[in-house]
Amino acid sequence: MEKGYRGKLITIIILSLLILLGLIYLKFFAKPSPKPAKPTSTPAAETATATPEETEEPTPEVTTTPEPTPEIVVDLDSNDSINKFVNKSYTIDSGYVPSDLRKVNVRSNSDQTLRAEAADALEKMMGAALDEGLTLKLLSGYRSYKEQVSLYNTYLNRYGKAKTATMDAYPGGSEHQLGLAVDLGNVSGKCELITCFVEYPTYTWLHEHAYEYGYIERYPQGKESITGIMFSPWHFRYVGIEEAKRIHDSGLTMEEFYGRTQ
Ligand SMILES: [Zn+2]
Repeated sequence: MEKGYRGKLITIIILSLLILLGLIYLKFFAKPSPKPAKPTSTPAAETATATPEETEEPTPEVTTTPEPTPEIVVDLDSNDSINKFVNKSYTIDSGYVPSDLRKVNVRSNSDQTLRAEAADALEKMMGAALDEGLTLKLLSGYRSYKEQVSLYNTYLNRYGKAKTATMDAYPGGSEHQLGLAVDLGNVSGKCELITCFVEYPTYTWLHEHAYEYGYIERYPQGKESITGIMFSPWHFRYVGIEEAKRIHDSGLTMEEFYGRTQ
């Protein structure tokens, strides 16, 4: 009986040892199996590093997708276009006279004309300002090439060549010849064509609302080197409501907005 028990004990011990050995073997076999898994993880890391390269490629596709710009066709070069781009480098033909000039029915120093569309917009704009108790005065609208020449010479004698070059008087290079630009001021005449015009609520209102009527502030402060013209808070350019909103929202000058230089 005792021998039988011993025999059973021995077999149990042997079996348990075999199980232990088996477990040890399994552990040894199990270890190499994750090892090959590691190299598979490293190429995964390589592919992970490769993916940013792939994501870099689609990004230019994203930047090319906004195609609204070519959809909006703006004629910057025809004399009769309300978006005609003008500065000292992009001049207007000396013989150009807009065909649809009309007298503007607003407060002004003397009779002033503008192209019909710009006149309609100005009347609405000045009317809206008046509704808020702000009385504006139109100082200058359309100016012929001849008038530009005489204005330029007047300034030249008064201020010299350097300062005159920064004033909106260059013959052929002034938007006033398009019949699409206006100089506005206080009805009181205070700070007329002087930068202190900015201190008045009339200017603040124009600064905030002119674009809603299709007019933009054409020669802003801090952009003198880009426009080539001194800060002129009284000068507004008509470009149509949609384009005025786009330019206004961009915070850019026409030079920057259209990628043109002076
Ligand atoms: Zn002007």
